Amino acid sequence: MGERIEADVCVVGAGPVGGTLACRLAQAGIAVAVLDRAALPPMEHPDFDGRAYAVAAGSRVLLEEAGLWAKLPFPAGPIRDIRVTDGRLGRPASPLHLHFGAHDVGAEAFGWMVEARSLRMALNAHFQALPTLRLFAPAQVAVELQDAGATVRIAGGPDIAARLVVAAEGRESPLRAQAGIPVTRIPYHQTGIVCAIAHERPHDEVALEHFLPAGPFAQLPMAPTEAAPHVSAIVWSERDAVAPRMLALPDDAFAREVARRLGPHLGAVRPIGRRWHYPLAAMLAHRYVATRLALVGDAAHGVHPIAGQGLNLGFRDAAALAALVIEALASGLDPGAPDLLRRYQARRRPDNLMMLAAMHGLERLFSNDFPLLRLARDVGINAVHRLPPLKRLFIRQAMGARAA
Ligand SMILES: Cc1cc2nc3c(=O)[nH]c(=O)nc-3n(C[C@H](O)[C@H](O)[C@H](O)COP(=O)(O)OP(=O)(O)OC[C@H]3O[C@@H](n4cnc5c(N)ncnc54)[C@H](O)[C@@H]3O)c2cc1C
Repeated sequence: MGERIEADVCVVGAGPVGGTLACRLAQAGIAVAVLDRAALPPMEHPDFDGRAYAVAAGSRVLLEEAGLWAKLPFPAGPIRDIRVTDGRLGRPASPLHLHFGAHDVGAEAFGWMVEARSLRMALNAHFQALPTLRLFAPAQVAVELQDAGATVRIAGGPDIAARLVVAAEGRESPLRAQAGIPVTRIPYHQTGIVCAIAHERPHDEVALEHFLPAGPFAQLPMAPTEAAPHVSAIVWSERDAVAPRMLALPDDAFAREVARRLGPHLGAVRPIGRRWHYPLAAMLAHRYVATRLALVGDAAHGVHPIAGQGLNLGFRDAAALAALVIEALASGLDPGAPDLLRRYQARRRPDNLMMLAAMHGLERLFSNDFPLLRLARDVGINAVHRLPPLKRLFIRQAMGARAA
């Protein structure tokens, strides 16, 4: 007989959400196994790769509790202000814009830009440091979910007996499919182009969200890197028909296309690191739980990257599930019990559905050059400007202030 190990929780998928959840649980002394089908990238001396996450204030709390924030090897850049404009490519932007300041709600920052490689390095280091966490990667797994408990069989490795299995395998979650949980998907026919740029003038820790008819274009202020003193991340949603042409441009022509969308306020720009691209679609799983199974992160939902909320929603799932599991184990209860799973779903699915609907509505409203809609947008922008409580509500929601 092969080796058999026991874990309170087995997390399948060591991406940012699964990895952070595993660390948060192990930080509380809980026996956790975390598995990934891919070998974890070594990342000891990785090059700057141009990807970064906008980590909301609520998500930072989870990263701190998981012991990861203190292990980030590169500084996180604060976002202190956000300007939202309704733009027309090649024509002057609408004179109306929304200006959100973290100081409006007495906060230090709206959120922080964390390089993807920085979070990866912190996760990899912490996995090795936590005594109650066992990592298996690369690992091919077969999972059996039964009322009495779950068994996770690793090809060529041990069997893991767990009381709760967490599906954190991203959008195409095999465990979600195995549990027969349907999903609703809404394609946007847009491609998300993600890269970083160096620019001539400082960004002053201000982010820009520029709504263009082809899709939103965001510039997010990053901390200086070894590549340049003034750096921003770009998340640019472009029509599927146009995106491949943009992605194939040489650096100088690509920089001109970025500058046309960004405007002149940062001076000359040049791309640094790689260019990444993702098909954009919204997605929601009809259920977040099954027997001994909970879905978290992109396995449970996907939203338009219009407000950089995708990973933050996943972090909120991880925070909510961790709180319930820690509380249950402290009281000697079963962390995979149906009642706990029902409470997890009730805490997270409505919140994610609301964010999905809000992002979808924003995307539809703004990715349109119809004159009446443009007028409605301008009126709406003006109204938010004049109503400080409404503005504060937007800010709190985006900061993840309601995070569990
Ligand atoms: C263009 C774009 C820009 C974005 N910008 C932002 C942003 O600024 N801020 C933000 O909050 N979010 C952003 N997001 C969203 C964010 O990238 C995702 O929400 C996040 O990566 C989800 O993390 P995850 O851990 O749930 O899934 P993933 O990152 O998909 O990780 C899944 C992990 O599971 C593993 N896995 C897969 N299948 C298996 C299996 N069968 N067995 C074992 N392991 C498996 C994979 O190898 C991987 O390690 C953006 C998304 C896009 C498309």
